[in-house]
Amino acid sequence: MPRLLLLNPPSERMAIRDNYYGCSSKAGYYWPPIDLLALSGKLRRYFTLSVIDAVAQGLPPGKCMSLIKDFEPDIIVMLAGPVTLKSDLEFASRAGAVFKSRVFLSGGPLLFHGKEFLDRYDFIDGVILNFADNNLAEHILRAEEGYNLLYRGAGGDIRGEEKIRCRGDFSYGVPAYELFPLKRYRTPLAWKKPLACVKSSFGCPVGCGFCLYGRLPYAARSLDDLFAEFRYLKRAGIKEIMFSDPNFTVNRARVEAICEGISRNCKGIRWSAAAHAASIDRGLLRVMKSAGCHLLEIGVESGSDRILQLYGKRSDRSTVEKAFDACKLEGIDVLGYFIFGLPGESALDMRATLDLALELDPYIASFSVACPFLGTPLEDECRRKGWIDPETEEFDSSGKASINCGGLSPAEVNKMKEYAYRKFYLRPGKILKIALQSLKRTPLDFLYYLWYFFSRAAMTGRFAGRRSVL
Ligand code: SF4
Repeated sequence: MPRLLLLNPPSERMAIRDNYYGCSSKAGYYWPPIDLLALSGKLRRYFTLSVIDAVAQGLPPGKCMSLIKDFEPDIIVMLAGPVTLKSDLEFASRAGAVFKSRVFLSGGPLLFHGKEFLDRYDFIDGVILNFADNNLAEHILRAEEGYNLLYRGAGGDIRGEEKIRCRGDFSYGVPAYELFPLKRYRTPLAWKKPLACVKSSFGCPVGCGFCLYGRLPYAARSLDDLFAEFRYLKRAGIKEIMFSDPNFTVNRARVEAICEGISRNCKGIRWSAAAHAASIDRGLLRVMKSAGCHLLEIGVESGSDRILQLYGKRSDRSTVEKAFDACKLEGIDVLGYFIFGLPGESALDMRATLDLALELDPYIASFSVACPFLGTPLEDECRRKGWIDPETEEFDSSGKASINCGGLSPAEVNKMKEYAYRKFYLRPGKILKIALQSLKRTPLDFLYYLWYFFSRAAMTGRFAGRRSVL
């Protein structure tokens, strides 16, 4: 069989390239990239597979190259992320040249610009547009274009349709978990280890203007396929599942069926998922909790209803407050996502966002800066109106702000993000609560996060005399 390498390439930062997304891990947390897991399930019947997750394994480029050499792949399928696009392309070019392998890329920045990348870089042999597509493996094997795959033909011509399609339910089988460095993955969202990432749906029908998932068509995974994976995870001793769905609670009946499937096939496993605030209530949360759900990720985004409406979030303050109350009453922790610096926002809107975060007081708050990820409506608008440097292609939602729209400056947004982190986390009650909860769950990981975060903060002078912009 041909040899195929699934590669998460090296990175100086702990760049997260999972699920087309882009941010960098600030406290050393990292989880298995769902793109590679799903592809491993699809491709294992057709190829001799190997997996290198150079970020999780802490591999520098030289060491990674020598591991690739040992495997001698015919094909490399590599992630390229929004945070590290330049270095990812450089690595792909080197690997393709040294090993004469065909190189396929998968990642958020290429989704809506695949042909452009193939045009510009002749070392890219193909671009995967939907890693969950049912026929992807056959197309790669037969060296032909197909739905969701752009392909460079023998004459150098670019073939395939630049459109992401979902045709009915998708399946990807049981991923080749045994090839992934499972012991290396840890996240504060997981109570126990080892942890696995599982996808039960693709895309999101809500369509928020700043989010790439809103541009991907919604599709559901076949329940039989999903339950087969649950049974495998139980047998393999996996203790925790992170669902990689952008929006797990799109369809209530399906959520209930999945909960029943978990109770039947892998009872005792704990799990977390992302939910839209408007789609949950106490009844549904009770069903989820009894099937092992202990944490939900909820995108609050802004404390300003005007901003939420402007970006099509389909929720407002009162919806979010109700959802958080319901989670508290049902004993489910929440990770709340908050964004600063969306065009149209004022300093008062940012303050309202921070106040809302303090009022809701989720178990974890994630504050990010607005990012014009390639392919989002926000990117279109920023490029059209000249709000970002036309040459910029790398974006990190956990890094520095890059949008200059004439309102809030990037410096003000960055300051606010830093201030929000300090204001939210450096409260004695919060520190104690997180410490007690974390020590009950994964004590060694908790100490690792502290060590990683403070050693990075010391290196970058992160806490040196910052103040609020307000
Ligand atoms: S609801 Fe969440 S996943 Fe869906 S488009 Fe909006 S931000 Fe993205």
